[in-house]
Amino acid sequence: MSYYVPIVRHLYVHIPFCVRRCSYCDFSIAVRKRIPAAEYVQCVQREFQLVQSGRVDPAAALRGSTSTRGAPDALETLYLGGGTPSLLGTDALSALLGSLLDSASSSSIREAIEITLEANPEDVTPVAAREWRRAGVNRVSLGAQSFDDRVLQWMHRSHDAARITEAVRTLRAAGIDNVSLDLIFALPVELRRDWTRDLDAALALLPAHLSLYGLTVEERTPLARWISRGATSAPDDERYAADYLVAHEQLGAAGYHFYEVSNACRGDLRSRHNSAYWSGRDYVGLGPAAHSFDGRTRRWNVAQWEAYRRAIEVDGTAVESQETLTAEQQELERLYLALRTDEGLSLTAVRAPHAAPLQTWGTAGWVDVADGRVRCTPEGWLRLDALVRALTGPLATV
Ligand code: SF4
Repeated sequence: MSYYVPIVRHLYVHIPFCVRRCSYCDFSIAVRKRIPAAEYVQCVQREFQLVQSGRVDPAAALRGSTSTRGAPDALETLYLGGGTPSLLGTDALSALLGSLLDSASSSSIREAIEITLEANPEDVTPVAAREWRRAGVNRVSLGAQSFDDRVLQWMHRSHDAARITEAVRTLRAAGIDNVSLDLIFALPVELRRDWTRDLDAALALLPAHLSLYGLTVEERTPLARWISRGATSAPDDERYAADYLVAHEQLGAAGYHFYEVSNACRGDLRSRHNSAYWSGRDYVGLGPAAHSFDGRTRRWNVAQWEAYRRAIEVDGTAVESQETLTAEQQELERLYLALRTDEGLSLTAVRAPHAAPLQTWGTAGWVDVADGRVRCTPEGWLRLDALVRALTGPLATV
């Protein structure tokens, strides 16, 4: 029997550990004082070996796809996300990257791969940053979230604003210039968070990239409990829209370009890894809760660390379930992803009756239609879901 052996071009590794849970977070994490780093690395190495052997999805062999295993220049991006990957410790991280990059033996091949590490500011020390760089990391996404210490405490973050500035300087000194900052907006009004001031503080650090996320209330989080007992107010749509448009204005004036609904960069320093997701490319995910996609089928691992560890020990794989997209679902996903980015959507992908509202949306300032493509403006991105529904569902106005 021959097996489907994927060429891995985009690899995501989920590192689930955090020292505590932030007030708004419902991610699949394992809160630990002591990180089981060696055990975790062994699990991911074992899972990766099985993926490379092609035995994760024997059914796919029936589709007849085969490819060359371990092509040394196949990997284009590797993203270590979490959780808090920077908690893993430098030895474990070096061992992990060493095995994942095994086939990319020459330093020039490694350097061409975008290798991103998500880090919390408090974990960035001169020694850690140097070791990360030595292991191949060339991009760091820092969970900054705010430059207001009061707000950071409310979020249950472990760092203060000064630590963010220090972390960026430390990363640069270690040779990691490609730094992205995450910020959260649309916070409850009673926090009196000064969003403009936070954006200014972020821009003063000249990051290569910024990711901006509106606060959402997820079930079973401290934030949801605070709201249900009236201790804090729920985020509202007006604040979300106002903060979002301010960010476009301020970042635009500073020379940043929103290339995706939540992401802006200087020059061409966009996230190549996330851009692969948004352009519908294949990717492989390793670790608890990680997802993989082969263009048609999406499969995902069990979410809990302990369940993942046991499954890998027994079978070498921890796939919990999978879904295969119908042609219609693939079309809908392509359309949605295209409108999320500055690439926009080809007008040829819009079926004739659905094209009718485009002119009205253009007049309203929600889309630009040019060069045979339709692209969302910031106002359009605020209505993205509604626009996609109108372009795909029953004919109706937004
Ligand atoms: S550091 Fe990130 S993953 Fe961990 S609890 Fe906070 S928001 Fe969630």
